Amino acid sequence: MLAKNGIPEMEELSFRIPPKERLAKGPVVMVECFQRIPCNPCAKACKSGAITLGDDINNLPEVDYEKCTGCALCVSKCPGLAIFIIDETYSEKEATVSLPFEFLPLPAEGDEVDVLDRSGNVVGKGRVLKVRNGKYEDKTPVITVAVPKELSMVVRNIRVGGAK
Ligand code: SF4
Ligand code: SF4
Repeated sequence: MLAKNGIPEMEELSFRIPPKERLAKGPVVMVECFQRIPCNPCAKACKSGAITLGDDINNLPEVDYEKCTGCALCVSKCPGLAIFIIDETYSEKEATVSLPFEFLPLPAEGDEVDVLDRSGNVVGKGRVLKVRNGKYEDKTPVITVAVPKELSMVVRNIRVGGAK
């Protein structure tokens, strides 16, 4: 599916999913980048050295999950909107997903929004916890949304205002 329509299926994603043990410790990055292109803003943005590309800028980014603090500073810097922060420790029933969002209107903190899968299908409702939209984000706001825990690896976008 990835080669056909750009949407990865779970088995194509498997090498991008952080290890269970790391997910159990708190927020962590998930880099959904699959194509060898000359691109490295993710590695430059990470002050912890958790994302590296080696000596060829065409390499796929590699992640050292133990170095990742879940700070989300890399999310807005990826031109492919391919980086997400997952926190499966948020509460007993909910996880959070922090995602890049370049649509208007922006949601407000506390809003209930539709949550979408990688194909744009509505898969449920989420609650907006945080909207980062400062100078650093540079017009790529980062939205943190609480979702049912079983959707932590499914939700990758939101829709503000419901169906039109
Ligand atoms: S979330 Fe923070 S620590 Fe983790 S890879 Fe991104 S910039 Fe680095
Ligand atoms: S910035 Fe985004 S598209 Fe570029 S290498 Fe990093 S993850 Fe891939």
